[in-house]
Amino acid sequence: MIVTVLGSGSNGGVPQWDCCCPACTRAREDPRLRRTRSSVAVSVDGARHVLVDASPDLKFQLEAVGLTPIPDEAVHGRHNRVDAVLLTHGHGDHCVGLAEFSTGKSFEIPVHAPEDLIRFLFGDPDDSNFFGDLGRLASNYVTPHVLDDSGRLELLDGLHVSGFEINHTDRLEDGTCFPSSTFGYELEADGSRLVYTSDLGLLTNNLLERVKGSDLFMLDATFWWDDELTRLSGIRKTSYELGHVPVEESVEMLRDLDVDRIVYTHLNHTNPMLDPMQPMADIVKNAGFEIAHDGMTIKF
Ligand SMILES: [Zn+2]
Ligand SMILES: [Zn+2]
Ligand SMILES: [Zn+2]
Repeated sequence: MIVTVLGSGSNGGVPQWDCCCPACTRAREDPRLRRTRSSVAVSVDGARHVLVDASPDLKFQLEAVGLTPIPDEAVHGRHNRVDAVLLTHGHGDHCVGLAEFSTGKSFEIPVHAPEDLIRFLFGDPDDSNFFGDLGRLASNYVTPHVLDDSGRLELLDGLHVSGFEINHTDRLEDGTCFPSSTFGYELEADGSRLVYTSDLGLLTNNLLERVKGSDLFMLDATFWWDDELTRLSGIRKTSYELGHVPVEESVEMLRDLDVDRIVYTHLNHTNPMLDPMQPMADIVKNAGFEIAHDGMTIKF
């Protein structure tokens, strides 16, 4: 399996458009420190690709990693290298990039997501929602498919996926989640296994069991501390309240787990892992874990 990190930042990326904090300032000065919104491209043969999430930075990410049309294979000048998309949840940093596909040719790219997310994004033909109204994206350019958490689906030849519900988005009093529930994804090919949970509110025993024995676990590094926003921005919301396990805690929970590689992604600009003067990035590396960067390629 080949996993290419298209983006490794949280909702606003790094730098955020309106922010002059030290991390954003450093990233403005040094392009290597920039992080676009989180997403990965997964391939088995290097030719066909599945995206996990479609970020607002999608077009630039595809260009940056060379996932661009091959002229010799183009029909009427168009060629698509994205064979399917899996969406984790309805927050904008994970799905609004689908609008990018509404250009010149209807490739009918399959988009798999939990039922409430498909409804939130597309509605139905009689009562369309956001993407259904944007250039008739739903019927022409991508094809929405409901993925439930009970089965395993063959996405490409030899690449299987299972979606499973995780805690992240707000749970309302009626039991539903807003704007949608959140899925983690497990992808398998040739006996190799990736578990991807870029936005993760709780590292439960069930999830730890699932991750055990996998080749790669990618997870949430939005915040280091639970009270990070209070410390740094004066916002009285904790990391857990915002649906993110703080890395300070997940590092300890993952220390002795049987996983080949653990890679943190979805970093917020406030995370002290981005500060070379702080010890946090070293704590992660000394535990044997890695920090994703845009364009990173992982093969296993
Ligand atoms: Zn996110
Ligand atoms: Zn900032
Ligand atoms: Zn989110």
